[in-house]
Amino acid sequence: SDISISKNSRVVRAPRGSTLNARSWQTEGPLRMLMNNLDPEVAERPEDLVVYGGRGRAARNWESFDRIVATLKAMDNDETLLVQSGKPVGVIRTHADAPRVLIANSNLVGRWATQEVFDELERRGLMMYGQMTAGSWTYIGSQGIIGGTFETFVEAGRQHYGGDLSGRWLLTAGLGGMGGAQPLAGVMAGCSVLAVDMRAERIERRMEGGYLDRRAASLDEALALLAEAKRTGKAVSIGLLGNAAEVYEEILARGTLPDLVTDQTAAHDPLYGYIPAGWTIAEWERRRDSEPEAVIAAAKQTMARQVRAMLEFRARGIPVFDYGNNIRQMARDVGVEEAFAFPGFISAYVRPQFCRGRTQFRWIALSGDPQDILVSSRKLKGIVEDPSFARWIDMAETRIRFQGLPSRSYWMGLRDRVAAGLALNQMVASGEVGAPIIVTRDHISSGSVASPNRESEGMLDGSDAVADWPMLNALVSCASGATWVSLHNGGGVGIGYSQHAGFAVVADGSEDAARRLSRVLANDSSVAMFRHADAGYDEALATVEREGLRTFGAPP
Ligand code: NAD
Repeated sequence: SDISISKNSRVVRAPRGSTLNARSWQTEGPLRMLMNNLDPEVAERPEDLVVYGGRGRAARNWESFDRIVATLKAMDNDETLLVQSGKPVGVIRTHADAPRVLIANSNLVGRWATQEVFDELERRGLMMYGQMTAGSWTYIGSQGIIGGTFETFVEAGRQHYGGDLSGRWLLTAGLGGMGGAQPLAGVMAGCSVLAVDMRAERIERRMEGGYLDRRAASLDEALALLAEAKRTGKAVSIGLLGNAAEVYEEILARGTLPDLVTDQTAAHDPLYGYIPAGWTIAEWERRRDSEPEAVIAAAKQTMARQVRAMLEFRARGIPVFDYGNNIRQMARDVGVEEAFAFPGFISAYVRPQFCRGRTQFRWIALSGDPQDILVSSRKLKGIVEDPSFARWIDMAETRIRFQGLPSRSYWMGLRDRVAAGLALNQMVASGEVGAPIIVTRDHISSGSVASPNRESEGMLDGSDAVADWPMLNALVSCASGATWVSLHNGGGVGIGYSQHAGFAVVADGSEDAARRLSRVLANDSSVAMFRHADAGYDEALATVEREGLRTFGAPP
């Protein structure tokens, strides 16, 4: 049903083991990661090349995918592949320390950066939506976001409930690639979760993956399970089939109120990401092609209902937050003037972490051997100084199943990130792990995103819409020798609403890789600190001082 993509029944899965398919690990790394993005365990709709986040794709079409694979296999270590919105466009001569792949996805010139212009260009086969890690080949499934989701819920508990979420429950919607992490993250944080989704197969998939405990046949049953969880003090996560707007309204009408409210439907994409109330999935899929305007209008009307319900929860004293899907903007577009009365998750719960210098750190075992992640996590527990890391690893080992190539991710400060990257490279060199390791992060990070309704919402100095920072971030990753670098528009919140950058480094155990890792990780964290120090956050200025970074940013 999707534009310009022919469905394909091939099953793509990254090669495992220590035998190269490309000429070196520097090209084998991106090759396996591209394929891993489309692994059926990882991607939401691999037959359409859709990885997650509405229509976030790994490649423009199957022809592009095949050409990227063939090119990576044949490239030398002084060559760089250029990818424009998921299509390979050429190979240039560079040098060994330059990135092997440079990716620009979904970028449009300011005045043209609208969903409508993008949709038209996509229909004509000229562009692709890269989301954040889909088009940059660093998506690892719900396991990649769960650490951040856990931290967000813990911080919400700290701010609103004295750090104790036991006996409480969170209401949310959306059990897709990202949203599917919410139920497990909530339970890990000690809170029950009721998650509403319109698609039965999404509920199924999260149960199979161990992300969701129970499925309720009705709201009555769900509320009874929540009451039981409150009595026993044992947090539970429950999936409920339904339309988020309708279920939120019904919960309000009954007066059995949650303790936290959010939403993670793919509202950023009113054509492909959000199902209007009263529509069947089949009707929605059919009308997307024949009458996209009607679908967008109906989706936005339902979002307006859902946001009004969220505002009502807030009026009744419940903490409500936007979970980075731009639903407030969509509702405001159709007249909900007060939509921004509740905050976004970054400004409410995550920015303090950014100012302390914490950024995501993600590593992936190219061997495909889960043992490599187990031994490397244990090694890192003795290296990373932040004690929350060891606690996270212990929880992750018992609760989080691998999807695709085994991997882990968590947040770390600047020094811990560099130390962890170097330790992993050392483990490759010494043969403690079976093959090289990819070190990367989400695009959601402190110095790599400009997104006024999300990552840069409500900046202290009013610099929310300044997009120079992610551009600098991408350039810095290039200059520092990342193995691949990507620069995208529109991730998380939709076309025109964000600009962001990502990188990945292949830790192949060499001295060169050690130098690249320490430069890339330290400099990525440094840009993040410069950005927040420049905006005048005291805690960021203190971090800059403590880390001895050379920034000129300070309030006048
Ligand atoms: P996805 O497309 O994989 O899943 C969206 C889910 O929402 C689907 O399962 C769909 O059935 C459901 N849905 C749509 N409309 C609904 C409705 N009216 N009622 C109930 N369910 C409905 O998307 P995803 O990857 O899970 O991302 C979700 C959103 O979160 C996106 O907007 C994404 O940009 C944003 N996001 C969040 C983070 C984060 O840190 N949490 C990171 C990146 C992106």
